Amino acid sequence: MKITFLGAAGEVTGSQHLVETRDRRVLLDCGFFQGRRAESREKNEQFHCRPKDVDAVILSHAHIDHCGNLPGLYKAGFHGTIFCTEATADIAELMLLDSAHIQFEDSKYLSRKLKGKHPPVEPLYTDEHVKATINRMHPLTFGEWHELGEDFKLRFVPAGHILGSAIVELDVLDGTDHKHIVFTGDLGRRGMPLLVDPQPVEGADVLITECLYGGRVHPPAGDIKTQLKEIICETMDKGGRTIIPAFSLGRTQQIVYFLNELFNSGDLCPLPVFVDSPLATRVTKIFRRYDETLDADVQRSLLTDKDVFSFGGLRYVDKQKESAALNERDEPMVIISASGMCENGRVVHHLKHAVSDERNTVILMGYQAPHTLGRRIQERQEFVRIFGREQPLKCRVEQLSGLSAHADATDFKWWFEKSTEKGSFGQAFLVHGEPEHSAALMPLLRNYVDEEIHIPQWGETFEV
Ligand SMILES: [Zn+2]
Repeated sequence: MKITFLGAAGEVTGSQHLVETRDRRVLLDCGFFQGRRAESREKNEQFHCRPKDVDAVILSHAHIDHCGNLPGLYKAGFHGTIFCTEATADIAELMLLDSAHIQFEDSKYLSRKLKGKHPPVEPLYTDEHVKATINRMHPLTFGEWHELGEDFKLRFVPAGHILGSAIVELDVLDGTDHKHIVFTGDLGRRGMPLLVDPQPVEGADVLITECLYGGRVHPPAGDIKTQLKEIICETMDKGGRTIIPAFSLGRTQQIVYFLNELFNSGDLCPLPVFVDSPLATRVTKIFRRYDETLDADVQRSLLTDKDVFSFGGLRYVDKQKESAALNERDEPMVIISASGMCENGRVVHHLKHAVSDERNTVILMGYQAPHTLGRRIQERQEFVRIFGREQPLKCRVEQLSGLSAHADATDFKWWFEKSTEKGSFGQAFLVHGEPEHSAALMPLLRNYVDEEIHIPQWGETFEV
């Protein structure tokens, strides 16, 4: 059988790997390439897996760099089944509709800007393609083996990365050749709020593993809950507001959960808290739906608190008008809003009204890519450009690190060790990582792999 690497090969977006036997073609993930506009568009428009001939897609989780191009695949002729976990199916629907909406708005803006000089820019896919894609999804429960036929079985194991995220196990028969293939998707970490820990497997003939932070050890998470409380209360005492830019999927729910715990223990100072992101509100509903799959701490809380994403003083803001009205209120409050890197979304308006007042605080809780507004705030530049205007950055800026959803070198070591206790790894492929991280993980992984370790290039095919 063959595996061809069609994305996330030597880079970190566009996850897509094709597993082929004599009788089947199955795709692992079908993610969006993200990066410079023209280059990503070209990569996202072209499929090298012959979509019409792909029998099935197995989706590891609902991040857009793993599922974002499924509607494009459907549009290009794919009519097979998409297997994923139940929570992944629900979250992917929201993420893909959001992606279609962003593309629609983007194409309108670009068509206006390029008027006359360029034919209109079409979105890569629309709501209709998303709906048709969702109809092709076949959700499976964790731990259940599912047969595509006697020659091809699959099973999902918790990956601990985001809600619904899975490690994919395949049991594949090609003639007399039998292989157990494991694809980590994105591997999470132990002890993270809300999520269960990643689960080890029992060896594999072929391991395809991500290596995003293979060369890094994350800083200790510390007590983020207590730090949040202290910063919010100090800001309130000064009469200021706290703005927390946060991704709608995952980070927002972690913060709300921490604040809910503080509220329940009587430690949260009395002030209004707003979640101002319609996508985050919809994602939170899915977290509630699957709360029985969350970690042991949540299960303990649920015994006395039937909704860990709601507490007195917390409001989920829906309408744009309500969002704008928050900036007219002159009282201490907390606003949790997307996007996490402050590049777009409602948080930009809140920052515009907040950054020049020294009573206020911005808490950054995730990675801030270069050239983003988040990065400029993180660097505490004297002036930051918001909606085309330079504004003095006078507010307090805090960075709370340690909530990364990706395994670091320590987590990989733990997972490799546990996963080879009852069986070894045959050959291995390192994907979803910049070269420095795959190179750094290579010597560690070598201790657990019997055969070769490859760092595939885009489009490279291997007989396994
Ligand atoms: Zn991910």
